[in-house]
Amino acid sequence: MQRAPFSAAVSMEVTHMDAKTYTHDEVGSMLRDHGINPTAQRVEIARELFSRKGHYSAEDVFTLVNNEQAQVSKATVYNTLGLFAEKGLIRQLIVDPTKVFYDPNMIPHHHFYDVVTGVLTDIDAEEVRITGLPPLPAGAQMEGVDVIVRMRRPSTEAR
Ligand SMILES: [Zn+2]
Repeated sequence: MQRAPFSAAVSMEVTHMDAKTYTHDEVGSMLRDHGINPTAQRVEIARELFSRKGHYSAEDVFTLVNNEQAQVSKATVYNTLGLFAEKGLIRQLIVDPTKVFYDPNMIPHHHFYDVVTGVLTDIDAEEVRITGLPPLPAGAQMEGVDVIVRMRRPSTEAR
């Protein structure tokens, strides 16, 4: 599976930053732009993600989608999120093997992860300076570097 270079996706993804409600047509063309066949269920799932911004687990997305009229199975939600991530429509953030989040913000950025509340917060890419990376293996191309800063706030422990 050939992926678009990371930087090529950035300029057109900037529009996703605006919190707005996307129409079915807008989401449909967004999916088609990423080579995804816009079935009704995929459009529903993408609308939920892009209209809200933020970081959602597959469980969250399942709940969000089924709060409205659509009835989408858990398997469809998982498969669709996997497809979206594979096609570069959204980012998959693997905080640990049991905690996977999906992020519709494709602008390169990093995250704080509150280990107590399970909440992810964005960090601007410019705020993190990464130095001393070893050279990539011959022929390999950088796809991106993701930093997850795991933190614990004293005030949240009393909950
Ligand atoms: Zn994020």
